[in-house]
Amino acid sequence: HKYVYDFAEGNKDLKDLLGGKGANLAEMTNLGLPVPPGFTITTEACKAYLTTGREPDGLAAQIEAHLESLEREMGRKLGDPQDPLLVSVRSGAKFSMPGMMETVLNVGLNDRSVVGLSAQAGGNDRFAWDSYRRLIQMFGKTVCEVPGEEFEHALDDAKRAKGTQNDLDLDADDLRGLVDAYKKIFAKHTGREFPQEPREQLDLAIRAVFESWNAERAVVYRRQERIPADLGTAVNVVAMVFGNLGADSGTGVAFTRDPGSGAQGIYGDYLANAQGEDVVAGIRNTVPLQELEQIDKKSYDELLDYMARLEEHYKDLCDIEFTIERGKLWMLQTRVGKRTAAAAFVIAGQLVDEGLIDLDEALHRVNGAQLAQLMFPRFQLDHEFQPVAKGIGASPGAASGKVVFTSARAVELAAEGESVILVRRETNPDDLNGMIAAKGILTSRGGKTSHAAVVARGMGKTCVSGADELDVNVPAKKFTVAGQTVNEGDVVSIDGTTGKVYLGEVPVMPSEVVQYFEGELDPEQTDDALVKAVHRIMTHADGTRRLRVRTNADTGADAARARRFGAEGIGLCRTEHMFLGDRRELVERLILAAGDQEREAALAALLPLQREDFIEIFREMDGLPVTVRLIDPPLHEFLPPLEQLAVNVAVAQERGEDVAKEEALLAAVRRMHEENPMLGLRGVRLGLVIPGLFAMQVRAIAEAAVQVTRDGGSACPEIMVPLVGAVQELETVRAEAEKIIAEVVGDSGVEVLIGTMIEVPRAALTAGQIAEAAQFFSFGTNDLTQMGWGFSRDDVEGAFFWRYLELGIFGISPFESIDREGVGRLVRIAAEEGRAARPGLKLGVCGEHGGDPDSVHFFDEVGLDYVSCSPFRVPVARLEAGRAAI
Ligand code: PEP
Ligand code: MG
Repeated sequence: HKYVYDFAEGNKDLKDLLGGKGANLAEMTNLGLPVPPGFTITTEACKAYLTTGREPDGLAAQIEAHLESLEREMGRKLGDPQDPLLVSVRSGAKFSMPGMMETVLNVGLNDRSVVGLSAQAGGNDRFAWDSYRRLIQMFGKTVCEVPGEEFEHALDDAKRAKGTQNDLDLDADDLRGLVDAYKKIFAKHTGREFPQEPREQLDLAIRAVFESWNAERAVVYRRQERIPADLGTAVNVVAMVFGNLGADSGTGVAFTRDPGSGAQGIYGDYLANAQGEDVVAGIRNTVPLQELEQIDKKSYDELLDYMARLEEHYKDLCDIEFTIERGKLWMLQTRVGKRTAAAAFVIAGQLVDEGLIDLDEALHRVNGAQLAQLMFPRFQLDHEFQPVAKGIGASPGAASGKVVFTSARAVELAAEGESVILVRRETNPDDLNGMIAAKGILTSRGGKTSHAAVVARGMGKTCVSGADELDVNVPAKKFTVAGQTVNEGDVVSIDGTTGKVYLGEVPVMPSEVVQYFEGELDPEQTDDALVKAVHRIMTHADGTRRLRVRTNADTGADAARARRFGAEGIGLCRTEHMFLGDRRELVERLILAAGDQEREAALAALLPLQREDFIEIFREMDGLPVTVRLIDPPLHEFLPPLEQLAVNVAVAQERGEDVAKEEALLAAVRRMHEENPMLGLRGVRLGLVIPGLFAMQVRAIAEAAVQVTRDGGSACPEIMVPLVGAVQELETVRAEAEKIIAEVVGDSGVEVLIGTMIEVPRAALTAGQIAEAAQFFSFGTNDLTQMGWGFSRDDVEGAFFWRYLELGIFGISPFESIDREGVGRLVRIAAEEGRAARPGLKLGVCGEHGGDPDSVHFFDEVGLDYVSCSPFRVPVARLEAGRAAI
């Protein structure tokens, strides 16, 4: 079994096996770019190690063989005392997980080869000892779990002794002393000496990278990013090149376009006389990449040339890590770069213009989650709000919240429902839970490529990094800025697009993308590149998609907005929402009705109100289908809660007040009380039990449709019966409804369809029978999930889903994204058997899943006619339906 590949043996399409980094290093090698030689150990080796707890047979020998060929190519032997080859050992999973897994640099250094390294570097003792102390530090921390602070304290001590704050002031002797101190720390914590044998260092480092796949922070990150837990990581062993050999050396990162806005140009950071981790960690302040032109023109020009070649080759934004070793440029990594949502749209549009990709591909390059993010509101600024600091707009959005300084506090306050902004000097992978809990992240140090920036962008979370006017004091739980002190709990607002920081809560306004969807921004007139790109891609999605998109709306205003957003009808109008507010009393009268007469009077009072509701909605949706669902939830939801009512009655009685009415109400509430109301008297059951209720609704719908048609409009009502489990239920309701409709509609030309929700598992399994009586189906995937899994949709998310997510029982709540294998199977069966019984049966979905990107793809696959979702999700569903069709 082949577990090890030389860079020259791989290519960019082997990410499953070689990980993203390894596959791209191979690709660059084959493109002839200057990549330091090396080899990749496959994810399969990692998986084997993680399942059996030991390296698979043959791995050691393969590593030996590839190491030998690397040594031959470099003309040096690993850890050779005179002229050592040093290697880095880097993780690289299929999906990038920035900072989540381990890297060990300078492997091969020991007490003897440190001297050889100095000679190699032209007698640079300082460099050699600095490299050695870095190895002990990284190796100790990542391979042997020595607490990292101990090394940092020792480094601080050395600097204090020298009277400096700058690492660069430590000379070779200081660093040699530091190496001794580090070795003592290592021995104290591990009970052994720092390993001097280079091959042992290498093997232990490889093993540590394998194991880092299951480090807690990596597990959390994968769950958040929905990366499967069983992929494993590859390990790249690469010949070291040094960016810390002096002023003619350095290291940096580069983007072929701005990952924030998508604008063309040269973006990146450079740090002279440093190794890569100094840049990524954001520990020292970098200079803009353009300044490299002054520092080292030859390398700069070469880099620009490679950047252009990579972009041409990958046909996409690439990000690059590079090192310059004494004037020689080395490419250490490239990948198709992460970008903000705005940049994704803008770049996709640009690449079409440049002829690199077509519109289908552009559609493929963006997604609904990004579009949803672009629809977030932005700050509405006036003179009142002046920024107190300006950092780097590292991840866009507008976020306000209470300041917290630790991950734990962020989690705590967020659990109480507070919006929080996590403020740190810089973040590290241990802050991940706090970053997830926070509305936004604000750091005083680090650039666009710092940990905070990269992770926040990946999460779609607002982030301002490198706001260096902030003096952050984590232990004291405060920061100072512009002469003011901000304590934990004070509110700040951060703008992740401009990088500006404000004290207090800044009001927000709609994003330009929403203004575009609202029709307030003309894409032909504006010079907003994002709006133009969104318009172009949305137009293509609409022209491509097979699925129709409707909306869930129960007011005229929502219907109108959804229509502006592109809804092609209403897929769910929940009529129970029309029974709230000041109509509650009428509902109470209905429930408390002593006999037929009282009940009919209550219904008669509701009828005109309902009719007006429907008239408004039919007018807004003129010419488009409107699915009106007959009342669904249990009636007691319209009555006051039992306990509260009981207390009120007791108190009033005590005071000697007249409580006859309240007592009747209390008796009704008691009578209707159910242990499991979600499985109780609701939906069609209610309609069958309360005479006249559904009839009143059907009449209101038909009368409204006739009225709108008479006024010259066009109403296309579709009456939907909820919670049907047996065809007989539907038949009973339908027989009554058809009589009323025939009577009301007469020769007005109005056509009313009658169909059903499929939201009870039995309905899905008997869909063939139900289809005989239904003119359409709409899948209620909320209830179908609730009843399919037996999860109470109102309780479980807070109660135990966290544990299910933690255990990987599912990667995302099945209420959020359709469970394809289980609940999805019910949908598939019902769709097939329904259509077999009634060819051409119209099928839709109106559960929350109708607006979930992944679920939209599933519904397309199953062959539904439309999805229906809340108005703000309509553009997302249109886009995803387009993507599903290509
Ligand atoms: C459903 O169950 O999916 C549905 C749309 O109905 P409701 O959410 O109102 O129960
Ligand atoms: Mg339902």
